[in-house]
Amino acid sequence: MDRFDITIIGAGVVGLAVAEEVSCKGRRVLVVERNTSFGQETSSRNSEVIHAGIYYTNGFLKAQLCVEGNRLLYGLCRERDISHRAVGKLIVATDEKEASELWAIKEKAERNSVSGLSFLSRKEILEREPAVKAVEALFSPSTGIVDSHGLMRSFYHHAEAAGATVAFRSEVTDVRYDGDSYEMEINRGEYRFLSAVVVNCAGLHSDRIAEKAGLDIDAKDYRLKYCKGDYFSVSPSPGFRHLVYPVPVKHHAGLGVHATIDLQGRVRFGPDVEYVSELNYAVKEEKRESFHRAIMSYLPSLRLETLSPDMSGIRPKLQAPGEPERDFVIADEQEAGLPGLINLIGIESPGLTSCMAIARRVHSLIQPYL
Ligand SMILES: Cc1cc2nc3c(=O)[nH]c(=O)nc-3n(C[C@H](O)[C@H](O)[C@H](O)COP(=O)(O)OP(=O)(O)OC[C@H]3O[C@@H](n4cnc5c(N)ncnc54)[C@H](O)[C@@H]3O)c2cc1C
Repeated sequence: MDRFDITIIGAGVVGLAVAEEVSCKGRRVLVVERNTSFGQETSSRNSEVIHAGIYYTNGFLKAQLCVEGNRLLYGLCRERDISHRAVGKLIVATDEKEASELWAIKEKAERNSVSGLSFLSRKEILEREPAVKAVEALFSPSTGIVDSHGLMRSFYHHAEAAGATVAFRSEVTDVRYDGDSYEMEINRGEYRFLSAVVVNCAGLHSDRIAEKAGLDIDAKDYRLKYCKGDYFSVSPSPGFRHLVYPVPVKHHAGLGVHATIDLQGRVRFGPDVEYVSELNYAVKEEKRESFHRAIMSYLPSLRLETLSPDMSGIRPKLQAPGEPERDFVIADEQEAGLPGLINLIGIESPGLTSCMAIARRVHSLIQPYL
């Protein structure tokens, strides 16, 4: 049977970042992806925002890896000429109560080591974004946008150049530990091989992979809940130059319906939050009114008929509706009797921003097995 040193399940942005990070001459690294190309799931269904690390619970991996990932990602984009722009973000308070919450957001962000935050007055907001109605805003200059496909392409090519093999149309259908290495089954028996280390980057299916490997995912609290986020596009465009976010509602599973801009300057609103039981990416037309209501609070000139259903993405969440925020799981399952199985579960936002920092962390976890 073929034998690999490291198998990475999933060629999303995280799997590809890990593949580049761990690949080197003489090491047998295999990435297995069930789709026909890389980045066909959550990694191409998101806001493409390089987050600063503002909202995450102090001490969470989400906070640490986002701040580190932000710095690493800007560095890589500059070095490799991957399209990106540090457009900056405004968190806008529409009344005095929300304005008082901006202070708490700033303090929390600074405890996460986010730097450069400043308050903007009503006049300063209007100078930057004339259509926005707000009494005060928090400005984050290190928030930006990135071409996520270009980023994944770069990881993919660099991983292959460093010796990794990426196999598409290859679904992992079984993972079995034999006390020494992992026997992997692809496409229900089409191919079997052994691997010393397995890195589970299977996104929305990562809990099922952990279960296949023999873990009790309910006992470990690994079972994922699907949380859909829809987007609406707007035409004519309000011409925003920055990302514009409302003040988030406490214990809400998202950041509020915000305005994202892409590298071509197109504005989209979203994502909203809807826990769902199946993976269906259709965007319902009838949500137009709730989007309109949410956006009107900070963009009162927006007309209902200018909004059109756009795309959606589904967050692999660990917390159920109403539960407190959960952190990323990035764990070597040695204590559960599965040494060298590295599970990445619940890699929702800011997973794109954090991908390089996650990859470094995975690399340090697998050192004992190399
Ligand atoms: C609506 C939305 C907005 C977001 N916005 C942002 C943002 O602006 N900034 C940010 O930093 N993050 C954002 N995120 C989060 C970010 O998109 C994810 O954290 C990131 O894309 C996760 O990447 P991944 O590689 O872990 O997962 P995925 O991209 O889902 O990749 C997992 C891969 O595993 C493969 N796979 C699954 N099962 C198997 C199997 N059995 N065998 C083989 N292959 C398998 C899948 O086909 C898939 O290609 C957002 C997420 C959502 C849903």
